[in-house]
Amino acid sequence: MSQSKQHFDCIVIGFGGMGSAALRYAAMTRRSVLGIDQHGPAHTHGSSHGQTRVIRKSYFEHPDYVPLLLESYELWDELNRRHRTKPETKELLTQCGILQIGPPDGEVVTGVLTSAAAYDLKVERFTSAQISHRLPILKVPDNHEGVFEPDGGFLRVELCVAAYLKQAMVHGAELLSNTAVTRVELGGGDRLRVHTSDGEFTADQVIVAAGAWSSQLLPGLELPLKVLAKQQHWYQIDRVDNKLINEFPCTFFEREDGSHFYVTPELDTLGMKVCEHSGGDEVDDLSQFSSELCETQKSRTDEFLMQSFHHTKSRLVHHSMCKYTMTPDSHFIVDRHPDIPQLVFAAGFSGHGFKFAPVIGKRLVGMLDGEEDTRFDFLKGERNA
Ligand SMILES: Cc1cc2nc3c(=O)[nH]c(=O)nc-3n(C[C@H](O)[C@H](O)[C@H](O)COP(=O)(O)OP(=O)(O)OC[C@H]3O[C@@H](n4cnc5c(N)ncnc54)[C@H](O)[C@@H]3O)c2cc1C
Repeated sequence: MSQSKQHFDCIVIGFGGMGSAALRYAAMTRRSVLGIDQHGPAHTHGSSHGQTRVIRKSYFEHPDYVPLLLESYELWDELNRRHRTKPETKELLTQCGILQIGPPDGEVVTGVLTSAAAYDLKVERFTSAQISHRLPILKVPDNHEGVFEPDGGFLRVELCVAAYLKQAMVHGAELLSNTAVTRVELGGGDRLRVHTSDGEFTADQVIVAAGAWSSQLLPGLELPLKVLAKQQHWYQIDRVDNKLINEFPCTFFEREDGSHFYVTPELDTLGMKVCEHSGGDEVDDLSQFSSELCETQKSRTDEFLMQSFHHTKSRLVHHSMCKYTMTPDSHFIVDRHPDIPQLVFAAGFSGHGFKFAPVIGKRLVGMLDGEEDTRFDFLKGERNA
């Protein structure tokens, strides 16, 4: 075994978006901390890869997320300041704005306006004609409108994970890659025993941030999670006014049929990223997960692109499979194990969790310290019981 130390104050299982942030906040408390992941840092097998993650404040999913987002923005900014030691280093967060488009009485436009009004957030409404005038590349149905939020934008997802892991190590955390945790159990007294493919560790406290694998690590809880395979696509099209260089915003579309798609602008010469947020294919066996191009998901995205962006030709330049870990109501689960109080977990991020990684990571450590924070009450697992 490469790890000489066997006991830690805290072990964090999984260092994707949530685990990397938790590791950093745990290490900052002067605990001895070990992070364990079955893959390496910032890998492509979980849910925290694919160049970008959209971030926005006026949250159509529920206004209760807004206070968490306001703090997340501050914490991303703080991380960015530590990460950007040279002017040429890429920013973690780019606030190019986000334009959310849909029927005026649809889930997205009404949800955005509700959250914006509740928290006095800066947003601006546009008719379809106004959108066509400002962003001529977009095709918006006459009966749809858009809400622009200037604070929206995107995070560079792999850089964010790497920055959190670096900060965790700066504070003394140890990382163990390519090591699968097979079981967590009470191991005598209050200690927890963590069994891995590379031997056994003990810890006073454990954080489980295992993404799509959460149900396997917490079998007794019967978490109501379903994993969906979701394809990320990068296209180049024969119009160039979708580039970040022209300050093109992120866009999110609610369509007539209720489907949701989003686009992040072209950056780093890869092409514009186009994904469907709705839909996806259920994965029954994670060990059989395929990263091959799914033609069905691609053809849905092709069709969306044709309908929503003026162009004549498009070319898929890259794709990457990813996992959404869904709860029945698409709200996250951030909770304490009911029988093992020194074990906390965060799961079921339902395809919209990354932007919250800083507050979730901080909250998991706060829970281990016995801190109350009623802002997270709506994310307790009991609502799924
Ligand atoms: C295509 C796609 C687009 C998305 N877009 C957005 C977006 O625009 N905005 C947004 O906010 N969110 C978005 N999300 C959601 C967001 O990316 C996820 O909610 C978030 O990344 C989940 O992080 P996580 O740490 O829970 O999971 P992961 O990043 O998957 O991390 C879990 C880690 O646990 C490790 N692990 C699991 N089991 C074990 C084990 N037994 N032993 C050791 N290690 C283990 C895994 O290897 C993995 O590294 C998107 C997700 C996808 C898939």
